[in-house]
Amino acid sequence: MEIPHWLEKRAFLSPNQTAIQLTDGTTISFANLRQDAVTFAGKLIGCGVKCGDRIALLSSNSYQMVVAIHAMTYINCSVVLLNTRLSGTEWQFQYDDAACTYLLYEDIYEADIKNLTVSSRDTYSLTAIEKQKETSFNIPTEMDLEQIFTILYTSGTTGFPKGVQLTYGNHFWSAVSSALNLGLHKQDRWLATLPLFHVGGLSILIRSTVYGIPVHLHTKYSKQAIHRDIMDQGITIVSVVTVMLEELLGELGEQNYPSSMRCMLLGGGPVPRPLLEKCKKKGVPVFQTYGMTETSSQIVTLSHEDALHKLGSAGKALFTAQVKIVKEGKKLEPNDIGEIMVKGPMVTRGYYKREEANKEAFQNGWLHTGDLGYLDEDGYLYVVDRRKDLIVSGGENVYPAEIESVLKELDSVKDAGVVGITDKKWGQVPVAFIVQAGSKHSQDINQLKTFCKDRLAKYKIPKKFFFVDELPRNASKKLLRRELLEWVKREED
Ligand code: ATP
Ligand code: MG
Repeated sequence: MEIPHWLEKRAFLSPNQTAIQLTDGTTISFANLRQDAVTFAGKLIGCGVKCGDRIALLSSNSYQMVVAIHAMTYINCSVVLLNTRLSGTEWQFQYDDAACTYLLYEDIYEADIKNLTVSSRDTYSLTAIEKQKETSFNIPTEMDLEQIFTILYTSGTTGFPKGVQLTYGNHFWSAVSSALNLGLHKQDRWLATLPLFHVGGLSILIRSTVYGIPVHLHTKYSKQAIHRDIMDQGITIVSVVTVMLEELLGELGEQNYPSSMRCMLLGGGPVPRPLLEKCKKKGVPVFQTYGMTETSSQIVTLSHEDALHKLGSAGKALFTAQVKIVKEGKKLEPNDIGEIMVKGPMVTRGYYKREEANKEAFQNGWLHTGDLGYLDEDGYLYVVDRRKDLIVSGGENVYPAEIESVLKELDSVKDAGVVGITDKKWGQVPVAFIVQAGSKHSQDINQLKTFCKDRLAKYKIPKKFFFVDELPRNASKKLLRRELLEWVKREED
């Protein structure tokens, strides 16, 4: 099915509306953004890029990057967004894995990309493209919703990242479904500080085009700059992950956000309960979400009103989406924990060239998420943990995230990570890694144990505590429990 090309349509409907506002106050209208994207596309075509190519793009948030992403829609090629925080080997893997034919990069990566084995003929900095001669081409008026637009790699938290193919349709339905839930206000302004190379950031750009609202684009993450924008610039929605929200609350201190600030869209990973309670007390309008690269961002969202009585839940499936909980092929009753499965027009149709993974992940249009959770009687989703990280101790299921959340309630604990190790008697037992908040070695293990004893069943209390300076996290700041397991092995050798 075709729809009008989204940026062509938007520039036609609201040419003078601001599309992008930068932190220095510069604004770019939809008409100008459209013109810049068309020009950039003409230059890419001049360099040999053609319909159906896969183009890797390595860039941090910038207007240039926004233009490059939109330009791809005019050529009908797919863009493979590379995470700037990865190593050269990881970029190379994704470039090869997605069978890319061109690599575009932000100028500051010039030195880094020299080490990659990509033909220099096919490698261009964004500025080098801008200097090319423009080739004229037929500007498309439509988009085929079935066409692959982006290939985004998963964060690689549980293993090797997989290339998630998302069509124009996936992105379009994701944007529409979000609006059906959050509503669309005339004054909406969405702050984007999440990287555009992740689906959480990229989806803001597409929503802005579909809705006709400005994006306040932050090129660098700065909690002070975000705070200032929320206080003074009429921001109505901000997409955040847990660490950002924690820092923003610190900036907020005793102040309150203006009432126009209507949604703090929180996603990407688990959220410690004390943080949600703090937000509730301060009246910060947090909307918890559940989603993944495979679902083009949020697929389940909890409204601020519901947050007050369903604290900790990720909410209900969006209008066009469905969620169910399954164990051994059977749909479970409310409150029973099993694997979360999702279905909807925003869900990927598969990983690029991963037949085995695709066979395992998809069943009659439903996606196995690999996450464990339950639905309560009212259909609200609670995400428990990743299936791969489940610990089975003496036949009881132990969820590392639950223990981590309890440990993090302690002021003296800055960060905590829990994994299961093999145990002769119980099969597996949990052990905890602790990053202390205050001065080192101040933590008393007995105090930790007593604190856990008051809040957790005996078999969930970590059998060992390791004190470390930092926990292993990936480029998305997600805890790498598989590395913790290696740490344990090293300790034991
Ligand atoms: P990989 O698939 O390569 O292991 P990843 O799953 O971390 O990496 P992403 O697509 O970035 O890659 O993250 C999606 C995952 O984040 C979800 O599958 C889930 O495990 C976690 N997540 C997202 N939202 C929530 C939430 N509200 N609560 C708990 N976990 C969440
Ligand atoms: Mg995943």
